[in-house]
Amino acid sequence: MATTAPVIMRLMASSINTAKRAGGIIRDVLKKGDLGIVDKGKNDPQTEADRSAQRCIIASLTNKFPKVKIIGEEGGSDLNVCDDWLVTELDESFLQQSCPAEWQDARPEDFVVWVDPLDGTAEYTQGFVEHVTVLIGIAVKDAAVGGIIHQPFYQQPDGELGRTIWGLKGLGTGGFTAVPAPAGQFIITTTRSHSNALHQQALNAYASTEVLKVGGAGFKVLQLLEGKAHAYVFATPGCKKWDTCAPEAVLEAQGGCLTNINGEHYAYNADVEHVNRKGVLASLGQNHSDLVEKIPAEVRAAVGAK
Ligand code: AMP
Ligand code: MG
Ligand code: MG
Repeated sequence: MATTAPVIMRLMASSINTAKRAGGIIRDVLKKGDLGIVDKGKNDPQTEADRSAQRCIIASLTNKFPKVKIIGEEGGSDLNVCDDWLVTELDESFLQQSCPAEWQDARPEDFVVWVDPLDGTAEYTQGFVEHVTVLIGIAVKDAAVGGIIHQPFYQQPDGELGRTIWGLKGLGTGGFTAVPAPAGQFIITTTRSHSNALHQQALNAYASTEVLKVGGAGFKVLQLLEGKAHAYVFATPGCKKWDTCAPEAVLEAQGGCLTNINGEHYAYNADVEHVNRKGVLASLGQNHSDLVEKIPAEVRAAVGAK
């Protein structure tokens, strides 16, 4: 089964196990206590965990899928990793499912894998570890189609740490229980470390009953999936393709929507600009176009201009 399954099914099954291994590396670095923080830019830290998790993911996926283009947040990666970091097993329970017809014939050359080895680095360094996720997004040509969101510090009821959420358009989602957001309220989830005046103006345009400020694109989309928020608003550039590819695929596999502030999907082919210049607007169980309409003209002129 494993070797004959379509590429997308093997890529998803391999990414599930690889994201789990990367999560273990992220926990290990924190336990050792030396984070090795380097500033990549303003409010843009990188730690030993970002670097090591990326090496594990890129080496493992490249080893299994040498013809698939992989783009990681942390730039060039050393493919020589210890055996302990080279993940070769596929998630067998994922492979038991049947491949949606639309992706059955996709060839390795049709894919781009967007890797954020540690989303929510600022929060990781500040002790908000529940905001941290490992994101592996799978695009076919322009579209975000499959995604893995792994939470290394999620506390399972049995005490085990970590959980892995997946979504594949045409198949569905797994690893969590979807809960609708409460009726009669409008809760927004947004950034806690990258706000500015224009973004605040966009937030003010919604009649929200609550604004949750949390780290990471992955964690914010999880809040939509688990009914903690109705919409994710980020009306400024700053997020990158590796932040949104996996969350978009998982959210849309669950029936939600993730776009820029104009309601347009981003393209995820290998040649696109990495920055999501026109912000992020995501929702589940809402009329997405109504949310797009509410963005103030001044914000749209500054952020969402064509
Ligand atoms: P946040 O919602 O602020 O946690 O951001 C979600 C993702 O986008 C994280 O990976 C951030 O590092 C990234 N991001 C957002 N805004 C910026 C920015 N101004 N500079 C660098 N990274 C950003
Ligand atoms: Mg990120
Ligand atoms: Mg990151």
